[in-house]
Amino acid sequence: MSRYYIGIDLGATTVKTGCVSSEGKILLETKVSTEAHQGPQVVVQKIMKTVEEMYNRFGKASIEGIGIGAPGIVHNGIVKAPPNISEWDEVNLQSKIANLTGIKTIVENDANAAALAEAKFGAGKGKNNFLFVIWGTGVGGGIILDGKIYHGPNGGAGEIGHTSIDFNGPQCNCGNKGCIEAYIGQRYLSQRTREMLKLPGVVSSIETLVEGNLDRIEPHVIAVAAEQGDAAAKEILTEAGTLLGYALTSIVNIMDLEIVIIGGGISASPRFVYDAITQTIQTRVLKPHRQHIQVLRAELGNAAGIIGAASLVI
Ligand SMILES: [Zn+2]
Repeated sequence: MSRYYIGIDLGATTVKTGCVSSEGKILLETKVSTEAHQGPQVVVQKIMKTVEEMYNRFGKASIEGIGIGAPGIVHNGIVKAPPNISEWDEVNLQSKIANLTGIKTIVENDANAAALAEAKFGAGKGKNNFLFVIWGTGVGGGIILDGKIYHGPNGGAGEIGHTSIDFNGPQCNCGNKGCIEAYIGQRYLSQRTREMLKLPGVVSSIETLVEGNLDRIEPHVIAVAAEQGDAAAKEILTEAGTLLGYALTSIVNIMDLEIVIIGGGISASPRFVYDAITQTIQTRVLKPHRQHIQVLRAELGNAAGIIGAASLVI
């Protein structure tokens, strides 16, 4: 009998669930609204609704394991204060779902899960040690050492977004200043673009893409404009890539990692952004590391959430 794995990508707005094969292929996908404002009990009910959908299609007996990628810090299956979910302090989601289903369940931070998915099925296949960066709304990541997620004693490892590149830089939500997320996270990148478009003499196809409404600027719009050859968009993304390179340089120096895999919404952006990141690291990193550095594009794209979650139990 075929064995299947359920991967659940728990987000503050949507629960995305998929049935995944042992080769990491999504066979069926479903989603429901998280109803995060109604608190953990309702969120668990929503998760179970999607799990039951998978039972109905594949048969409960063929499900080998359930993996869940959750936002926030996850330690031993306990999800701690995930952002934007009401009344959720510390919830042992792993034991809750395991008890409700009777199936082996593993819960992990979503960025760590996506890193593991790249290790098993994506750009990190066959590579034992790498740094994984998710560049999207914020900047997150995971560290794969010896083919496994490195958690740290409290489950908080891999928070790449809070690497400061300027002690006097912009205030970050975390309380520190100059964090890389405060320069290249979605909100800041959009803001930087709006400022640039207001400069005299700047003409950009970004304005056309958002039909003149600058509040609609998102990183993927900037990426589309850059792809079309727009100079302003290219400049913004090159600058962002260079800044990310500064942050990653420190991490490469500390950890002696040769491979950096970049995923998230920005991973769809043109090659020159990756070149800017690579060049910056190669120029700035300690000399012995230079010739070994490889910056790779994540391969799993939008599927990383579900495949990442499933890969926890595959
Ligand atoms: Zn920060």
